[in-house]
Amino acid sequence: MNEKELTSTLPERIAGLGALAYNLWWSWTPSARELFRAIDLETWRACGYNPVRFLAHLSPDSLSQAAADPTLLARYDAVMNEFTTEMNAAATWPGSSDEGVLAYFSAEFGLHVSLPFYAGGLGILAGDYLKECSDSHLPVVGVGLLYSRGYTWQRVRDDGWPEDIEEILDRSLDPIQQVNDGQGRPLVVQIPLLDPPVHAAVWRINVGRIPLYLLDTDIDDNQPWDRAISHHLYTANLEQRLRQEITLGMGGMKVLEALGIRPSALHINEGHPALATLTWMQSLVTAGQSFDAARQWVQQHTVFTTHTPVAAGTDVFPFAMLDKYLSHLYAPLQTDQAALFQLGAHPENPGAGFNMTVFALRMARFSNAVSQKHGQVARQMWASLWPGKKVEDVPITAVTNGVHLPTWIDPNRLRPLLDEYLGADWMARQDDPQTWTAVDAIPDSTWWDAHRQSKSALLAQIDKRAKRRWRDDKVAATNVIAYGALLEPDVLTLGFARRFTGYKRPDLIFTDMERIKRLLSNADRPLQIIFAGKAHPADLEGKRLIQRIFRLAQDPAYAGRIAFVEDYDQQLARYLVHGVDVWLNNPLPPLEASGTSGMKAAANGTPNLSILDGWWLEGYQEGNGWAFGGDAPFGDRTGADAEALYRLLEEKIIPLYYAPSDDEMPHGFIQVMKKAMKSAAPAFSARRMVNDYVGQFYLPILA
Ligand SMILES: *Cc1c(COP(=O)(O)O)cnc(C)c1O
Repeated sequence: MNEKELTSTLPERIAGLGALAYNLWWSWTPSARELFRAIDLETWRACGYNPVRFLAHLSPDSLSQAAADPTLLARYDAVMNEFTTEMNAAATWPGSSDEGVLAYFSAEFGLHVSLPFYAGGLGILAGDYLKECSDSHLPVVGVGLLYSRGYTWQRVRDDGWPEDIEEILDRSLDPIQQVNDGQGRPLVVQIPLLDPPVHAAVWRINVGRIPLYLLDTDIDDNQPWDRAISHHLYTANLEQRLRQEITLGMGGMKVLEALGIRPSALHINEGHPALATLTWMQSLVTAGQSFDAARQWVQQHTVFTTHTPVAAGTDVFPFAMLDKYLSHLYAPLQTDQAALFQLGAHPENPGAGFNMTVFALRMARFSNAVSQKHGQVARQMWASLWPGKKVEDVPITAVTNGVHLPTWIDPNRLRPLLDEYLGADWMARQDDPQTWTAVDAIPDSTWWDAHRQSKSALLAQIDKRAKRRWRDDKVAATNVIAYGALLEPDVLTLGFARRFTGYKRPDLIFTDMERIKRLLSNADRPLQIIFAGKAHPADLEGKRLIQRIFRLAQDPAYAGRIAFVEDYDQQLARYLVHGVDVWLNNPLPPLEASGTSGMKAAANGTPNLSILDGWWLEGYQEGNGWAFGGDAPFGDRTGADAEALYRLLEEKIIPLYYAPSDDEMPHGFIQVMKKAMKSAAPAFSARRMVNDYVGQFYLPILA
C-alpha cells in the first residue's frame, strides 16, 4: 500500500485523508487526530492508532457515510486547510538567506507507536528533533535504517522473567512508503565497500514537512547475511555492526545522491553514522580536491552529538576488520591506510582499533554533549584528543536535550486547558517562559480535575492490558495483580519507566524493604509505584531487575501497590507521564547523559523526584520537584541515596500530597505541579533545543 493506492480507495470528497494518513503530522496535531477518531473511534483503536491501517479497514459504507456527514466534512475541510498551508510554507533558516539542506543521520528514530525503529531515549530524541524541525520550517532531511525485525514485545513469565517476542514488521499497512526511482521502479542503491555488492531499498516516512529516508537491506536481491544487516537495531556481531554502520552512513549518503539532495551540512547523531563523512569526502576528491582539502571542507560542515557518558559505550572496530572494507577507499580518497586509521585512533590507546566517537569528534567542526553536566563529563573523557588544551577548553559544548511538546503534552486533558489559559497561539510562544506564567491563572479545581482524569485514563489503560492478558493468555492470577489491577486512583502514585539496566537502579527504592513496605501499606497515606521498561535482550542484569520487581509486585505483602506494566513504548510512556503524580529517577551519577522522560513528565505538570544528574541539575529549582544525591559519596552510594529518597517521601512528598484541606485538594502539591510545568516546558522543549542547534552550529556552518 502507498499513498496513491490508499487515496484511490477513498470517496473523492475526503480523498485528502490519504495524504494525511501518510504524514505523521496528524499525530501531533489535535484537530487531525480528532478527525480520525470522529470517523469511527472503535476501528481507530482496533487499528492501533495507525491511520493507514484504519482507512484500509473501514468498509466502503462507513467511508461514504463519512463523506456525506456535514459536521465531519466541516472538520475535514478545516484540517486539510491547516495541513496544506503547513506543508506548503517555505523552508528557511531563521535570519539567513541560505537555503542549504541539513542531513540528520541517526541509527534510530522514535516517531509513533506504529513505527518501532528505536530502542530508547536516543531514538525518541531523534524523532522529536525531526518533528520540531518540521514545526520550525527548517530545510532538513533525516536518514536512518529500516529495521524489519526491530520490534520486540515484552512478555513477563509467571516467574517474573521477561521474554522478548520478535515480530516481523508488516510494512504494507504502516505510514511508510517505498521510494521509487524516476521511472516508477523501486529505488535501489548499492552500499559502498560491501563486496559482493549489497543493495538497499529505500523507504520514506513523512514527518510533517521533513522526509525521513530509511535504508532496508532485507530484499530479495541480497544474500541472507546481507539481508540481515538491517534486521535488528545494534546487532551484536561486531562485523555485522560495522556493515550496519557502513550501510547507514555511506549508504545513506548514496540515497541522498540518488534523490538529487546535496546537503550543505551534516549532523551525526551519536557515532554510528559517522562514516557518512568519508563518502562525502570521496565525492569532493572525485571532483578534484585533495584528501586534506576534502577532509577540511567536510569537517567545516559537520556537527556531531555524543550521547554516551561512558567510554565503553562507543563502537571500536579492530583495524583488520576495518581494513577489509575500507581498503577499497584508500585509492579513491587519494590516501593510505595509515592516514585513514589515524582518524579513528584514540591517543590513549592507539592500537585498540577504530573508535567511532573519536572519529566523529575529529570529523566535526562542532561537537556537543546533551546536558551541561554531560558536557563536563565529555570534555574530561575526550580531553586527550586535544593535547595541550585545558579540560575546560576542550571543544565539546553542550546543547541540553528537549522534548517535542505537541507530542508529549496530554492532548485530551491539558492541551485544551492550555489553549484556554495561555492563549490560542501559545505553541508559537512555547519556548518563552513568559508564556507559561499564565498557568497560575488556572484554578486549582480545574487543574486537579484534569490531573485526576489523566490518572484515571492511565489506570484504565493498565486495567485493560491486565484483563486482556488474563482473558487471552490465561496468565496466573498473581500476574494480573502484578500488572497493576489493584492500583487505586486516590493513592499517591510514583512512576518509574525507562530501560532496565544496572546503572539506572530501578530497585533503589527497595534498598530497605521494611521501610518501603511501611510506606506502601500505610492505612491513611499509602503510596503506590508503577514500573515499566524493557531490558536489552543481552542484558541479563537488567532482566534480573525486572524479575525482582515483578516478584515483589506479585507478593501480597505489598498489597497490590507495586505494578509492573509490560511493553514500555511511546504510547505507554505518554499515559505514564500524563497520569502519575510523581516521576522517579535515580540513576548512578554521572551516567545519565541527559534523560528526557523527566522533561516529558514536568511539561505535563508531573513533578520529578530525581537524583541530581543529567538534565535535572539544570531543571531543578526550589519548589518544582525534589532533588537528592547532590554530593558524590565515595564508594558505594546506594545506602546514602536510598536514605535521601525515603526522607523526601516521608517528610516532604507524602505530607504535601495528603495535606488536609477544606475542598479535598492538595493545594501545596498543585503548586509544585504548576511550577514543574512553568519551569520545564519552555526550557526543555525541542523548540529551544533546535533553536540552540541552529544558532550555535547550523548558521555558522551555512554562513
Ligand atoms: C522518553 C522515552 C525514553 C527516554 O527516557 P529516559 O528518561 O531518557 O530514559 C525511552 N523510551 C521511551 C518509550 C520514551 O518515551
